[in-house]
Amino acid sequence: MQTEQPQYVFGPVPSRRLGRSLGIDLVPFKTCTYDCIYCQLGRTTHKTVDRAEYVPLDAVVAEVSRKLKEGPAPDYVTLSGSGEPTLHSRLAEVISAIKRVTTTPVAVLTNGSLFWQAEVREALNEADLVVPSLDAGSPALFQRVNRPHPEVTFERMVAGLQEFRREFAKQIWLEVFLLEGLTAIPTELVRIAEIAATISPDRLQLNSVARPPAEDYARGVSLQTLRGYAGAFGERAEVIMDYEPATQGEQSHADEEEVTALLRRRPCRVEDLAQGLGLHRNEVLKYLGHLLRAGEVTGAVAHGYTYYRARSANDGPNEGESR
Ligand code: SF4
Repeated sequence: MQTEQPQYVFGPVPSRRLGRSLGIDLVPFKTCTYDCIYCQLGRTTHKTVDRAEYVPLDAVVAEVSRKLKEGPAPDYVTLSGSGEPTLHSRLAEVISAIKRVTTTPVAVLTNGSLFWQAEVREALNEADLVVPSLDAGSPALFQRVNRPHPEVTFERMVAGLQEFRREFAKQIWLEVFLLEGLTAIPTELVRIAEIAATISPDRLQLNSVARPPAEDYARGVSLQTLRGYAGAFGERAEVIMDYEPATQGEQSHADEEEVTALLRRRPCRVEDLAQGLGLHRNEVLKYLGHLLRAGEVTGAVAHGYTYYRARSANDGPNEGESR
């Protein structure tokens, strides 16, 4: 029987923070307000602050409903994917519609760059959990690390996060992504910690490079170093770098299309695919073998692991290469 190929829904993705997280992609590949040097999806090809209905609301909701009926239930339905989800102009309706079809909590992984816009903060009101980013403590490093759209100034970004905290009574987990020699230096760590304190997140999560980054010079700090920094960020700080398998995935019937859909949004190891999609390792290897031979997927090594990634429309002709 021919099944419809997923366009907007991917996973579940194995997430250390969120367990088994069913991902929803609300914008086309690398449509983002930032062009982070550490982005695991490569360089941003459409840098914008224009909010639009990039993907049709009804089609997204229909696909999510279908996927949720297939089961097993994920731990979170997560708006994330291959760009910035708050760029979708009907975000509030997307969240409301999802909440009408499931009791699974809805999380939004966002870079937080548009929170200075009241309509973006309002759109996030119905989410259960919002996970924004704060990667720098000064305008200069904000420019170097996040390479934002000119309309997103450091001051606007920080003020937006602070305002959102005042308005949003549910969970905010602030992610701080640190880079060796750039933001992982004492002066910058102090600045980031001071700004983070004004946002008062429910959790502060330190992260660093685990997958191949957009720019080779974006170097990560070790897990041990991150743990050493955690104390400077207060008692709510924790280290979340990389995925540690939490549970054995339940068996599912995910097919090659679903493997590709996931790898289009997130580079994964064999173990990540097996855990996230509930597949046996041998089945994952079989699918990857097909996809590699067809040039649909490429592999790249980072930190001693091979991460697989699906080719996107932005890649050139098949010749192989490697958020
Ligand atoms: S890491 Fe996230 S915010 Fe940064 S460029 Fe990639 S998708 Fe955009």
